[in-house]
Amino acid sequence: MAKEPKLAVIPLGGLGEIGKNITAVRFGENIVLIDCGLMFPEEEMLGIDIVIPDITYLLEHKEEVLGILLTHGHEDHIGALPYVLRQINVPVYGSKLALGLVQGKLKEHNLLDQVKLQTVKPRDTFQIGPFKVEFIRVSHSIPDAMAIAIHTPVGTLLHTGDFKIDQTPIDGEVIDLPRFAALGEKGVLVMMSDSTNVERPGYTMSERVVGNSFDETFRQAQERIIIATFASNVHRLQQAISIAYEYDRHVAVVGRSMANVVQVASELGYLHIPEGTLIDLDEAARLPKNKIVLLTTGSQGEPMSALTRIAMNDHRQVDIIPGDTVIISATPIPGNEKLVTRIIDQLFKLGAKVIYEAVSGIHVSGHPSQEELKLMLNLIRPKFFIPVHGEYRMLKKHAELAREIGIPAENIFIGENGQVFEFTRRYGRMAGRVTSGKVLVDGLGVGDVGNIVLRDRKQLSQDGILIVVVTMDKQKNQVLAGPDIVSRGFVYVRESEILMEEAKNKVKVALDKCCTRGISEWAAIKSQVRDDLGKFLYEKTRRRPMILPIIMEV
Ligand SMILES: [Zn+2]
Ligand SMILES: [Zn+2]
Repeated sequence: MAKEPKLAVIPLGGLGEIGKNITAVRFGENIVLIDCGLMFPEEEMLGIDIVIPDITYLLEHKEEVLGILLTHGHEDHIGALPYVLRQINVPVYGSKLALGLVQGKLKEHNLLDQVKLQTVKPRDTFQIGPFKVEFIRVSHSIPDAMAIAIHTPVGTLLHTGDFKIDQTPIDGEVIDLPRFAALGEKGVLVMMSDSTNVERPGYTMSERVVGNSFDETFRQAQERIIIATFASNVHRLQQAISIAYEYDRHVAVVGRSMANVVQVASELGYLHIPEGTLIDLDEAARLPKNKIVLLTTGSQGEPMSALTRIAMNDHRQVDIIPGDTVIISATPIPGNEKLVTRIIDQLFKLGAKVIYEAVSGIHVSGHPSQEELKLMLNLIRPKFFIPVHGEYRMLKKHAELAREIGIPAENIFIGENGQVFEFTRRYGRMAGRVTSGKVLVDGLGVGDVGNIVLRDRKQLSQDGILIVVVTMDKQKNQVLAGPDIVSRGFVYVRESEILMEEAKNKVKVALDKCCTRGISEWAAIKSQVRDDLGKFLYEKTRRRPMILPIIMEV
């Protein structure tokens, strides 16, 4: 009997975590990828810029990869593209806006003229190998977000991407519920759906709500208005710009990523800026304060962002002036709460009026709450269901919702990154795992920083470092000069002269000990120094700095 054809769905990122979304869809010896995103580093990943998915599995099947399909232009869906395309150069399919943002990235990485970018629109369908791919409009916190249906010989896979159901979107482009219903009617084999907001009951509010709150704030503001939000939230920017225009204010953009998005989005026709509304910061400085709106990034309290610098009096061009109204139009991503509240405190101290989510309807989420998730499940009624884009408890909760609407428990799969989900016309199952994980990017280094480097960075960050330098005569095994001790981040040396003197003596004693015992291996001498000095410092200070003995040989 011929082997039954199988569809394999292999999330390499975005399962058990929020971020670095990437899923391989494999049929026979053909693979398409859905999204290719990055994740921002966790607090303990000291010095790391971004985190990208481990694509070992794809490199092992490099010849089979036919293309990358993008649901939308958020970093957690496109951010790893330059790194992946450098190794697997295949066409990328996405909306005009998503590809506009991708272009900027490819340019930075000198890859722009090497990669084929194919613009797609909602309801476009086309064939890639054995896959008939279809894009379907959804609502989200960036324009032109799309779900992706992949029709295969064994059935249809539907990936919702990030979505919400906004019935009154800013651009009038409503989520394509009729198409979802039609797909459901025809039958969907597997659905993967966004779990980010599954813990929230009810419905996520329409983006339009934010416009009303903006209006209220603009009416009351006597002086300058500063709005911080995600650069990619083009609809939010549009609302800010439109209301500024209504209130006869000019808009200036602060921060590179915000300026980039405003430029790309207005060039591509996603952002409509009335003539003369957009001005630069110099001009803004000359106009009366009640004529000005500043648009800035930094709604997450990111240390290097414009808003943080402004709040810390560290921005070259913008200071807080008492009477400013600052709107923080975003919710802190879990983990960023502290950063954001510190910024809010700081802004208040400088005399600004700060409006943030905890006290007003100044932000709505781009992700679906429980009732929207149930609606999507009910429209599609998939045979098999895989909750994605969420930490473990969220996947669990989403699975519960699927049970509630009548999908049998055995047809719902909760997995981790690297899990292979296998489907035929008859059955679905979890079928083994492939390599998956995190690759850390630091500066130009991709993957060279691993656990050992991070452990060192952690130790350095906690108790600092002592460098012990000693010059020795290799032949006679004798100390010629030193030891000298240099330290950073351990103690304030000028106030610890006695301690440092004692430390030097400890090193001398350790070296003498080596001499009398006839130990002449550099490695053994170093480890003696490290042990004895470490013990001494711990006794004296209860600290464990990194100790780095250097022996200069004469
Ligand atoms: Zn998104
Ligand atoms: Zn996302």
